[in-house]
Amino acid sequence: MNRGIKVLQTFALPLGHGAEQCEELWTSGKVPARGSFTLGHGTVFTNIYTFTSFCKYELMCYTCYMKIQTIVGHFSSNTFVVEHLGRTVIIDAGAPIEKVKKALNDKQPDAVLVTHSHFDHVHCLKDYRANFRCPVFTPTDNKEIVLEKLVIKPILCPGHSPDSVVYQIEDCLFTGDVLFEDTIGRTDLTADAKRATPQIIKENEKLMQQSLKRLAGVKFKMAYHGHGDPSTYEKQIENIKWFIANP
Ligand SMILES: [Zn+2]
Ligand SMILES: [Zn+2]
Repeated sequence: MNRGIKVLQTFALPLGHGAEQCEELWTSGKVPARGSFTLGHGTVFTNIYTFTSFCKYELMCYTCYMKIQTIVGHFSSNTFVVEHLGRTVIIDAGAPIEKVKKALNDKQPDAVLVTHSHFDHVHCLKDYRANFRCPVFTPTDNKEIVLEKLVIKPILCPGHSPDSVVYQIEDCLFTGDVLFEDTIGRTDLTADAKRATPQIIKENEKLMQQSLKRLAGVKFKMAYHGHGDPSTYEKQIENIKWFIANP
């Protein structure tokens, strides 16, 4: 099984690579502008991988033909431009508006979905609001967001922050900072990303456990995280179960 990070390594990108490094290598011609690899398991889930000057990678799910562009923001947070069933949604607002506009290729998005209100995920939101004529969703319940044929399921997952939401679109999860490739989100922060008191940390940990148990029951194929590279269901279920067993 090839995963995203493996392919990046074949291009001699060190671990902890940033978008700028990708960009630099791409513009310097040290990596091919386009390449392809499989991400996920077997032939069920295959993706196309593309280096562009503005986006870390562009993935296409061959199961549901969903296109996902990953744009890395100033604070290493991922912003996703997701195109599916004729609708375009942006997940999180940590990437500069110019890069997001390039990824949109002059299209107007249909919605902006926020995973949580920590500054690294929302600090460009005012620019998005000024440039895009679409609703911004910060769900407070698990009610589906329906954009014509595109159905987005918010799953409330407090713990990393009180307002953390994981979005499910088809067989992909957009986890914000609840889950990462190899770990889970921090529970020692307040809603505004300051150091929490021991009492708040204890409460966050309790909420995180409930959220992990909720996510353990969700079926998906790929997870796209608020920072770092995407990962598979197999990897995440192992991760989730470990953190439930070792609270
Ligand atoms: Zn966060
Ligand atoms: Zn974050």
